[in-house]
Amino acid sequence: MPLSFDTTYKDLDSKLYSGVKPKDIDNPEILVLNEDLCDDLGLDKEELNSQILSGQELLEEPIAQAYAGHQFGNYTMLGDGRAMLLGEHVYDGSRYDIQLKGSGRTPYSRRGDGNATVSSMLREYIYSYAMQNLNIKTSRSLAAIETEESVQRRRTEPGAILVRVMNSHIRYGTFQYVASQAPEELEEFTDYVIDRHYPHLNNKNGKYLDFFEEVMRSSIDMIVDWMRVGFVHGVMNTDNMSIDGETFDYGPCAFMNYYDEDTVFSSVDKRGRYSFGNQKSMLQWNLTRFAESLQPLFEESSYAFDELKAKLDDFDEMFDAKYYNMMSKKLGIKSDGEKEIINEFLDWLRESRADYTNTFLELENPGSFDDPVYSSGDFKDIQDKLSHIGLDKEVMKQTNPCYIPRNYLIEEALNDYLEKESLSKFKHLLNVLEHPYESKDANSQFQQPPPKEFDSGYTTYCNT
Ligand code: AMP
Ligand code: MG
Repeated sequence: MPLSFDTTYKDLDSKLYSGVKPKDIDNPEILVLNEDLCDDLGLDKEELNSQILSGQELLEEPIAQAYAGHQFGNYTMLGDGRAMLLGEHVYDGSRYDIQLKGSGRTPYSRRGDGNATVSSMLREYIYSYAMQNLNIKTSRSLAAIETEESVQRRRTEPGAILVRVMNSHIRYGTFQYVASQAPEELEEFTDYVIDRHYPHLNNKNGKYLDFFEEVMRSSIDMIVDWMRVGFVHGVMNTDNMSIDGETFDYGPCAFMNYYDEDTVFSSVDKRGRYSFGNQKSMLQWNLTRFAESLQPLFEESSYAFDELKAKLDDFDEMFDAKYYNMMSKKLGIKSDGEKEIINEFLDWLRESRADYTNTFLELENPGSFDDPVYSSGDFKDIQDKLSHIGLDKEVMKQTNPCYIPRNYLIEEALNDYLEKESLSKFKHLLNVLEHPYESKDANSQFQQPPPKEFDSGYTTYCNT
């Protein structure tokens, strides 16, 4: 079937979005098309040509969404500066935003050019592909399309458009925008979001309180999943926090190799606000901002808002319960309440700076990696203790990936395209990341961490 749009966002107040037109593009070229995603969306790939996917052939008028957000702690007016919602595609009872990223300027572009480089869009494609296959809720990439213009960033590159698919692009920051710029719309907007994402709460008494709790729960699940695979998002601004717990906006993100909670790769995150280990507390901070934007809904009953604040007080306990449960699975611990051995293991990781991904594989199958770090007495002690409790290898296998998109592998694949116009490394990497939990001898080189110097000098960038 072709794309079939029913864009309910346009039924909301016109302050929440602007009609836009994608820039004109000569000869858009599809570099990658996600065939699995086509299937999941019920789309016939023969009907998805480059004209449709680059917004040259429109089914209806696209929109750019308005939103605000706390960027590194500072409140700012934003909005889709280089993104356009083509429409909401409905298939098999589900609704999906089909959005173009890099399709030109919008009323919210501020000083930006509305463009994206081909390397950054291929980068987003591969991260979202990897996260999906790692079983983490994420935006997905339907296609990356190269344009003929060149885009000036740290280096000049061909431009590109990414076709991004999400359950919606509604963020904490969308609520912040509505609460401050269109407060009279807050109730209707919240009802819309509940109906779209948490419909079981419709018609429930106290549904705004439950809504907050559901958002908190799904966001915690998302961050715990990031911690499971060593993902550092890099820009956890409130405008990049999905209301539905979908990971999105793959900008300066990267995967940690050697365990270090202070890991930061982003060039702009000088103080480590969004470091690997800060992601929990930054989520709590963001949820507090989200709660503030909901406050007017509780004006009639200060008691109800106190209840909402009490939910926030539960954050730590809820997060830690989920975190330790996840770590138990990673370590194959069958019983509950084994916090002590988990903490001992984390202390060892912190001190040894072992490769995060491979360490769990080594515990699962001792002798897999020829790394002196696994010969230490302390590691052997932990191994002994764990095997005494009894390792649940089946659970470990489902929880611990063999392959993650390691930074140096991504850079190699992108450079190969920029320098030789070859997508073979890129496609090979996609292939390896298709089944990240299944080890294959032929792919063992993809399990190698980079030299430590590579990681300590590795820098990622925003708005590329
Ligand atoms: P991000 O850090 O990707 O979440 O971007 C923050 C905001 O800046 C978003 O509203 C983007 O749409 C906008 N933005 C980023 N890059 C550009 C660009 N090149 N042109 C216009 N807007 C941009
Ligand atoms: Mg963003």
